[in-house]
Amino acid sequence: MTDFLATGTLPDHYQQLAKTVRDFAQSVVAPVSAKHDEEHSFPYEVVAGMADMGLFGLPFPEEYGGMGGDYFALCLALEELGKVDQSVAITLEAGVSLGAMPIYRFGNEKQKQEWLPLLASGKALGAFGLTEPGGGSDAGATKTTARLDDGHWVINGSKQFITNSGTDITKLVTVTAVTGGGASKKEISSILVPVPTPGFTAEPAYNKVGWNASDTHPLSFDDVRVPEENLLGERGRGYANFLRILDEGRIAIAALSVGAAQGCVDESVKYAKEREAFGRPIGANQAIAFKIARMEARAHTARTAYYDAAAMMLAGKPFKKAAAVAKMVASEAAMDNARDATQIFGGYGFMNEYPVARHYRDSKILEIGEGTTEVQLMLIGRELGL
Ligand SMILES: Cc1cc2nc3c(=O)[nH]c(=O)nc-3n(C[C@H](O)[C@H](O)[C@H](O)COP(=O)(O)OP(=O)(O)OC[C@H]3O[C@@H](n4cnc5c(N)ncnc54)[C@H](O)[C@@H]3O)c2cc1C
Repeated sequence: MTDFLATGTLPDHYQQLAKTVRDFAQSVVAPVSAKHDEEHSFPYEVVAGMADMGLFGLPFPEEYGGMGGDYFALCLALEELGKVDQSVAITLEAGVSLGAMPIYRFGNEKQKQEWLPLLASGKALGAFGLTEPGGGSDAGATKTTARLDDGHWVINGSKQFITNSGTDITKLVTVTAVTGGGASKKEISSILVPVPTPGFTAEPAYNKVGWNASDTHPLSFDDVRVPEENLLGERGRGYANFLRILDEGRIAIAALSVGAAQGCVDESVKYAKEREAFGRPIGANQAIAFKIARMEARAHTARTAYYDAAAMMLAGKPFKKAAAVAKMVASEAAMDNARDATQIFGGYGFMNEYPVARHYRDSKILEIGEGTTEVQLMLIGRELGL
């Protein structure tokens, strides 16, 4: 899998997958992106199309209803979708990498059999509830509690900004909760909460700056009772396990970001050749050509960074630093390219129906979600022994 880093050429099956998703993004996603963005509506028909293609099962073995691929395959799909529609891409990213992956990594056989075929089919979505109103970067400051009562966990508290948590096909939210320990050393565990369960509420959706077609809600838990066996992974390992999920997730977000960065390049190249000012295409001006060349360099560098992190992960090597580097570099590339593309489009770049305007609004969250840029810098610094 890692050979392509040396040769610069992806093996055939990866190229084929990327092309299939690229075609789908162009023919099925692009025509409805502006509408869903404007209406803030969840793209159920697009999600059903991705489900039919098996994208929600990409990195899972066939025995659990997956496609038998790997995490890099998921990243390639996210890059292609991210070029066209970040809301659609994050719906897939969160569904697979945050919704289903914790069960694949940490679930027991019964939990895997119960949940993975359903989530891998894409007919149902799972969500990942870590962030709370009190803080996301300091996720260990969890206040949500779960206590054992007569063979059940009783969960109380709230979560904030949770992706895919309130759609018509959301069937599961995995949450972190304090299950014991003292004030100085909390015991945090993760627990599977099927949707619906009495006492669980997905509050009204947020009115966001971007990712308008992605589903995001605050969640409240009021004496939510789930069976004791819904504990996911070892008791007290919930926080550590979620951090591992986030390390992987950063590579996926980096891939999505590279897609956004590249989408801005592609749109800008086209526009710079077509749009004329002072009697010639604006791209004939070196100032514009240099701007686009720099955008291309950012996208290329960020892609190399996420390929590198994915290769390390799949080779079983430590990849925390590489994932943090990729996430930071790629999300900044997306934001910088979105700003430059908007400038190249002039006044049209400020019109919501133009893809670059959507990228401009959508890209900011890439520097915030699944660990802010500052959190990536903290992780990189720590890995350097600082
Ligand atoms: C659209 C959207 C979707 C999301 N989806 C999910 C989801 O599915 N599941 C989930 O659990 N969460 C989700 N999140 C939450 C997201 O991961 C958090 O918003 C993010 O981790 C930041 O947490 P915060 O918002 O609490 O900011 P804070 O942690 O309060 O940080 C505020 C600012 O302070 C900075 N900061 C904090 N600590 C330090 C420090 N020590 N040094 C320097 N700077 C620091 C941060 O970098 C940031 O700039 C989502 C958020 C959004 C907006």
